[in-house]
Amino acid sequence: MQNEVEPIKDQFGRVLKDLRISVIDKCNFRCTYCMPKEIFGEDYVFLSEKELLSFDEIVRLAKTFAKAGVEKIRITGGEPLMRKDLDKLISRLSEIPGINDIALTTNAVFLPKKAHKLKEAGLKRVNISLDAIEDEVFTQINGKGVVAKPVLKGIEAAQKAGLKIKINMVVKKGMNESQILPMARYFKGKDIILRYIEFMDVGNHNGWNFNNVISKKQIIDTINEEMPLEPAEENYYGEVASRYRYKDGEGEIGVISSVTDSFCGTCTRIRLSADGKLYTCLFASGGYDVRERLRDDISDSQLEEEITGIWGRRTDRYSDERSENKHKNRRKIEMSYIGG
Ligand code: SAM
Ligand code: SF4
Ligand code: SF4
Repeated sequence: MQNEVEPIKDQFGRVLKDLRISVIDKCNFRCTYCMPKEIFGEDYVFLSEKELLSFDEIVRLAKTFAKAGVEKIRITGGEPLMRKDLDKLISRLSEIPGINDIALTTNAVFLPKKAHKLKEAGLKRVNISLDAIEDEVFTQINGKGVVAKPVLKGIEAAQKAGLKIKINMVVKKGMNESQILPMARYFKGKDIILRYIEFMDVGNHNGWNFNNVISKKQIIDTINEEMPLEPAEENYYGEVASRYRYKDGEGEIGVISSVTDSFCGTCTRIRLSADGKLYTCLFASGGYDVRERLRDDISDSQLEEEITGIWGRRTDRYSDERSENKHKNRRKIEMSYIGG
């Protein structure tokens, strides 16, 4: 069902369409570029049960967002499958009028146990993160010594359950550029879209440096040399990945080039952290504490007004401005907290 509400626009005329909900800040992995184990160690303090938004609170917010024009919801984390009873939340979200798409981003390790239930609850799509197909590389990246097999099993389970699948691979120089071709070869012809993601300067702990970025151009050139590609048209307005088709008809790949070819002009996304802060940009340093407003008994109409105001005042375009060095020393939220 389409939303029939007047779209709300930010200061640059961008319409609010997508809500990303982080349901937990914990994770079973310690990917070096996201939750390095030196920082997220044994004594790291994660959010407590009380600090997390409850399902009732998440659903109430999602309903308000749907009234404000949101049509798509993506569930993320941390590792979202570590949140207990996630299928129950998805089932409630899928009943909200106006929400026509629910997706999940996951490292897939828990999918064999959960994919079927999630699909039944109304989940349509999963984006599965896999940064290498060769075990020697993957075990080093995820910080837990996990080989690729459990993730591949998760992919298989999602396929069996009838979920649409995309694979996300972050490419970082010195970490896994050796995997660009092996990953392409593995997923080509399997009806699964592999998307390469440029390493981004999210958070404060991943030691980001422009020299560690493998650009969209480098990725495409590498694949094209062995498996010829041609550009494909955008599927919908604001699609973040540039699409390329294999010339032999064996499917397509995507590249998300937030660093070398940013796309802030079409950014329709708002993000809700697991403890109820709203962020209008992935690179924001501050959020709006809606959890406190909910727990203060704010009325539905007030809540809607506040959300509309937050989006209406939005001027974020961090990736477009990255090269201008405007935000050089800014402290940013962590990816594992906001969920990408
Ligand atoms: N744990 C889940 C997973 O890995 O799919 C969901 C949360 S994770 C933070 C969401 C996505 O952000 C993953 O695909 C991950 O690879 C990506 N990501 C994390 N840090 C990143 C960075 N610095 N640059 C680009 N992508 C990043
Ligand atoms: Fe966990 Fe996902 Fe971050 Fe890896 S990328 S540490 S799986 S949240
Ligand atoms: Fe959207 Fe911020 Fe990313 Fe630009 S940098 S695309 S505004 S989230």
